Amino acid sequence: MKLIRQRDVIREVVDAFARSFAQHMDNVDIFPDGETPRAKLGRLMALDLETCEAAAVDAIVGNDSWTRVECDECVNAAVAAGSYTMPKHEEVVEFSRGEKSVRVCGGCMASALKKF
Ligand SMILES: [Zn+2]
Repeated sequence: MKLIRQRDVIREVVDAFARSFAQHMDNVDIFPDGETPRAKLGRLMALDLETCEAAAVDAIVGNDSWTRVECDECVNAAVAAGSYTMPKHEEVVEFSRGEKSVRVCGGCMASALKKF
């Protein structure tokens, strides 16, 4: 179990982005602005991920999905409710087992504890 903050998510952006688009680096049809993932990756790699604002990453990729700290339970609830706005958190706790992991916010942790 480990605490995940936004800086942790930002630090992972370059690796996660590279993994996600590894097979499509030169595709101009992925992002609405027509910029290739390779070009965006280059701009992400030019950022100082220890100090940059999330907004700098968001501006490159075109949304906040790569910097948002998400609670899997809250996301599930938002999706089930038909919402397109995903809840954001300052921090979450990540539980993992092998390759699988789940991230949970304090509010959902408190709700979970009430079930005991
Ligand atoms: Zn939650």
